[in-house]
Formats: sequence, C-alpha cells, structure tokens
Amino acid sequence: MIDLLNLTLPEMESWLAGLGEPRFRASQVFQWLWQKGAADFAAMTNLSKALRGKLAETAAMARPGVADTRVSADGTVKFLLRLADGALVETVLIPEEDHLTQCLSSQVGCPMACAFCSTGAGGFTRNMTAGEMAAQILAARQYLKDAGRDPKDLRNLVFMGMGEPLLNLDELLRSLAIITHDLGLGFSTRRVTVSTCGLPGPMRRLGASGLASLAVSLHAPTQELRAELMPKAAAAASLDELMAALRDYPLTPRQRITIEYVLLAGVNDSAEYARQLVRLLSGVKCKVNLIAYNATPDLPFAAPAPAAVLAFEKILWDKGMTAVLRKSKGNDIAAACGQLRAAHLDQTTDNQRE
Ligand code: SF4
Repeated sequence: MIDLLNLTLPEMESWLAGLGEPRFRASQVFQWLWQKGAADFAAMTNLSKALRGKLAETAAMARPGVADTRVSADGTVKFLLRLADGALVETVLIPEEDHLTQCLSSQVGCPMACAFCSTGAGGFTRNMTAGEMAAQILAARQYLKDAGRDPKDLRNLVFMGMGEPLLNLDELLRSLAIITHDLGLGFSTRRVTVSTCGLPGPMRRLGASGLASLAVSLHAPTQELRAELMPKAAAAASLDELMAALRDYPLTPRQRITIEYVLLAGVNDSAEYARQLVRLLSGVKCKVNLIAYNATPDLPFAAPAPAAVLAFEKILWDKGMTAVLRKSKGNDIAAACGQLRAAHLDQTTDNQRE
C-alpha cells in the first residue's frame, strides 16, 4: 500500500493521474495531508466520496506515533516517535525568544560513530523516508495544537537530530521539497538548516538544490583531533578537502555557513585550538556556534569550565570572527541527540529481561 505522506507533489500528481484523477486533486490531497494535518481520508471533505473510498482502499498515511514526550523546565519538549515499522527516532522542540525551532532526525541511529554522541554509540538501523522526516513536523504541530498553542510559532527547522542527513540525501531532498512547498508544510528555505558532519560530495548537491542552509559539525581544528572525535567523518574527507568545499559552497549575499563546535573539557577547548580554528576557517563565510558539552553518564567526556568557554569565544571575536555561545537546553530531560532513545531502549531491554 502506498504511503501518501511519502510523495512529493509531482509524485502525487502522477500517482493520482494513474487513478484517472485530474492534476488539481493532487494539490487538494497534498494540502489536506500537510497543511491541514488530516489524519484520515474521511476528513478530506472537498474530495468526492468515491475518491475518498478509493484512497482508503489503495493508500495509507503513515503518521508516526508518539511513544514518549518529555517537557523540560526550560520549555524544551522532546518526543520519541515510533515509525510504522516500530523504529524509534527523536525530535525536539526548542524554545527561542519569540518562536520555536524543531530539531529533526534523518536516520534511525547513525553510522558515523562520533565519539561524543549517544546516537553514534547506538549504531545504525536504517534511513528514514522523506515522509517520515517531514511527518516529525506534523507530530510537533499536533502537540502545539493540543497544548492550545499556535502551531505557527514553530518557525525554524534544523536537521540536527539522529543521523547524518547527507548520507540519506535523496530522501532528504524529497523531504525538503515537501517541507518548503507552499501547498506542503510551507517553510521558507531560509528557515531550514541541514547540519552535516562534513561530506563534501553530497554537500555540493545540497548547495545546488538551494532548499536549505548549511551547518557543519566541525568540533576539531586539526585532522588528528578530528580523527579521534569523528573518525568516520575524518576518513570521508580531510579538513583541507572540507574547507575547500566550504569556500566553494554557493551562498546568497546574506547567507553564511554555520560551524558547530562542541567544547569538550580538556579535549578541544584550549586557547591553542581556538587560534587553530580561526586559521582553519579563514576565507570561509561563516559564523561559529560554540556549544558547551552536556555531560552524559555513558560517554567519557566532561562539560568545559565556564572560563574556558568564555576564553575560547573571546579569541574568536578578537580575530574578527562571529561566534555565538549556544546554551544547551533540556538538560533535565536527556535532550542531547540520542539520549532519550537510548534510555528507552535500555528500559525496554531491562523490561524484556525481567
Ligand atoms: S553527532 Fe551526528 S553524525 Fe555524529 S554520530 Fe551523532 S548523529 Fe551521527
């Protein structure tokens, strides 16, 4: 049975043409699915009864179920979503000053094995489909509606949850087509960011699509340290290759690449590394997001000292770089990537053992 949530608008048009339906029907169904969040075909009242019946017989809408929701004291909301095959993924709503940002997953697990990441430690299960990626937003909008809030407060999206989105590029681009289409989820491409650990080949394709902004998780200014922290990313491309790809990345005059740098105590937070980072990024049109690591019991890293964080930031500013200190949010609800899923899987395994 075909999952209608996994079709872009042109794909929906061809599929409905196969059922003998005119093109405008596809726009109607697409709007019902994404703009109006219809959960069943009976709700699609501007379609004929016969067509609704035909859709119910031949198609499904595989919206994810919510397996768990945790709300942090700071307003961060973390969802554990159950996909149609039972796979679990996480998505997080992060409160900003006057809006919300949603952090989206792109894979079930992740094959990149970054040393500081709970998702990486759990290994890789499968890629998410375009529909599964976009439907995370339907789950968040539904939550906001049920909580009496305006779903339009959700304004920014970032693919920075579980998985390496550029390893799932075909589905990611189809999902971005749904997310940014006026008849789909209607997000401006300026409000969608894809965060990668740095894979130059697929990065070029993403750049050519113009469907999202780019963020790169760097976390180390030398190849040697990067190979320790992000072994697979470092093996996929040297820092020289990565920087060359970033210098060539197509940007509009006001756009900049975001460089993510998680500060880990005693590992990558020294003044010398800050100076190396400045040298490395020369010629790259970027801003740097510094994130103080959020310690988790299962990984051997510690949060940096506040003084080290400030000193690191100051070196970047003194050298003329834009650096922003991002507060980590949701510390009380295991909001770092992969933590809630890991906790849930542990619990399930414990329960199965009992
Ligand atoms: S940090 Fe991102 S790319 Fe690295 S293992 Fe975790 S989810 Fe994968």
